[in-house]
Amino acid sequence: MGVPVLHRLALNESPYPPLPSVRRAMRRAVAQAHRYPQFHPDDLTERIAAWCRVCPGSVAVGSGSVGVALQALQAVVEPGDTMVHAWRTFDAYPLLAGMAGARPVPVPLSPDGHQDLGALLAAVDHRTRVVVVCNPHNPTGSLIAADALRAFLRRVPRHVTVLLDEAYVEFARAADPPDLPAFLGAHPNVLVLRTFSKAYGLAALRVGYGLGTPDLVERIRRQQLPFGINAVATAAVEASLRAGGELRRRVDTVVTERERLRQELGGLGWRVGPGHANSVWLAAPDPVDEGAAVLTEAGVLTRHYPGEGLRITVGTRKANDTVLTALAGPVARRFRQARVPVSGCSVHTVLPSRE
Ligand code: PMP
Repeated sequence: MGVPVLHRLALNESPYPPLPSVRRAMRRAVAQAHRYPQFHPDDLTERIAAWCRVCPGSVAVGSGSVGVALQALQAVVEPGDTMVHAWRTFDAYPLLAGMAGARPVPVPLSPDGHQDLGALLAAVDHRTRVVVVCNPHNPTGSLIAADALRAFLRRVPRHVTVLLDEAYVEFARAADPPDLPAFLGAHPNVLVLRTFSKAYGLAALRVGYGLGTPDLVERIRRQQLPFGINAVATAAVEASLRAGGELRRRVDTVVTERERLRQELGGLGWRVGPGHANSVWLAAPDPVDEGAAVLTEAGVLTRHYPGEGLRITVGTRKANDTVLTALAGPVARRFRQARVPVSGCSVHTVLPSRE
């Protein structure tokens, strides 16, 4: 028998179950489960639009942001087209490209875990129909500075749709969040993807949304499954939007814990990546394989990319303490001995960040 799993830190989920008010709303919706949801999710679309301060025509709702991404690919891709994306990235993207009939074109991340915007642009050619950019990125958590993103988007040809995946945007403390209507108007080929799976803690319910110009959104909505958004999920999202303050405090706690993990892992000798999502990223040549092994032994599930990296979702304080204890063990000790100390007794080195 294997070690029992105590903490699930592998899928960048929220460590918190739905709020009591959200559970109540779900229970009320369950009692009406013999009724269909709306044919098109118009009420939810309007609610999200009002919350994002955009017009309802700018919002496409889907089965998680991954569902909206698939609808977008199906809307714009023709046979023989390509989809350019960083690699690594969220594993679903190459699969979605295949489902929509596009050939994925992976572009390596830069050594410090950032998406290489210049290389992504260089990979765009006349066959490219879609470019995916995640901000923050998965798995490294890197963030693209606002001016670098704007310069990149200006250079992407207009016939190419940019999927700007902001699944983790709530965890990134961006200095100047863009005015959405102005941003979408300036970049009509961009679809911003967001989700209720991460900061809002509703991963099991599968609700995500895309924000774009009405022309683009109209094409994406044509790919939406009728009755495709279930009523219990809709009730949970609406209740979550009403509980925005409480949920933002949960996000603040996750961000505080993320920074604590970064600091303390750094103190143990790990080089911790740029981390703006709800996770921390440890990369080779640090001993990530041994790190994954000691965490498994400690009952902690993480996302391990053998020989390459380790993505650890920020959990509860207790889960994070378990991570720190495990990673302070033999691996870190051995590793510390090999590292040249800097500034007195500290061996803490943080990868350079581009923000
Ligand atoms: N985008 C990124 C970058 C992700 O990491 C994930 C989930 N790991 C998703 C999208 C999927 O989100 P959803 O649950 O909304 O489909």
